[in-house]
Amino acid sequence: MSARPYIVGNWKMHGTRAMLSEARAIDRAAERLIKVEVAIAPPFTLIHATRKEAELIAIGAQDCHPADGGAHTGDISAAMAKDAGATFTIVGHSERRANHGETDALVKEKAHAVLDAGMTAIVCVGETEAERDAGKAQDVVSGQLQGSLPTGDDVADKVTVAYEPVWAIGTGRTPTPDDIAAMHSHIRSKLVEIYGEAGSEVRILYGGSVNPDNAAELLAADEVGGALVGGASLTAESFLGIIVAA
Ligand code: PGA
Repeated sequence: MSARPYIVGNWKMHGTRAMLSEARAIDRAAERLIKVEVAIAPPFTLIHATRKEAELIAIGAQDCHPADGGAHTGDISAAMAKDAGATFTIVGHSERRANHGETDALVKEKAHAVLDAGMTAIVCVGETEAERDAGKAQDVVSGQLQGSLPTGDDVADKVTVAYEPVWAIGTGRTPTPDDIAAMHSHIRSKLVEIYGEAGSEVRILYGGSVNPDNAAELLAADEVGGALVGGASLTAESFLGIIVAA
């Protein structure tokens, strides 16, 4: 694993201001955990308040609209998320791809909007169970990387890839460390194909049912630079369990 693992909590559609105490507790402990880079992506409504509670950890958004602004009722631009205190944004999460019909092309537009706003992007990819069973997992992920990653010079160092097999998200099931290592090494070669030498430095996170008990094993797999954590990031206790394991 890379020198400083990157552990990102994705709160999804969870959290009211009552949850700020969890962020505070994580932040206080993160002070002692300088070997790990810790981040939380709360819902948009809590970005600003979480930023104020947490001084050390990074705060990010879970999505954004690709446009700068305009007549898009209910949407949030990357610049707005940044203004609220976000320094990174997750794009292309499988729940966005599945529930909102987001295509690779749209995810790429969003990733560019995130970079244009001066933030870093976490671009999510991952196959469904049917795709894995059909032996197509690597092809699916290749296509997603090719279609969703932002392109251009000096882009690679602002991008993190999160490999999240859809069937492992929120299910308590995970791939074996060998399967994760195989997919991450496949992703690494795609990244080098897309970005050249700079692709060898892009961090690749694993996500999908990471918890304090399995984190050490999953994070030890080859080419795993950290984790994107959903359910187990919702309490300071379990999220810190993962951070300590990293
Ligand atoms: P999970 O979610 O940890 O609850 O499986 C991960 C994610 O969707 O980012």
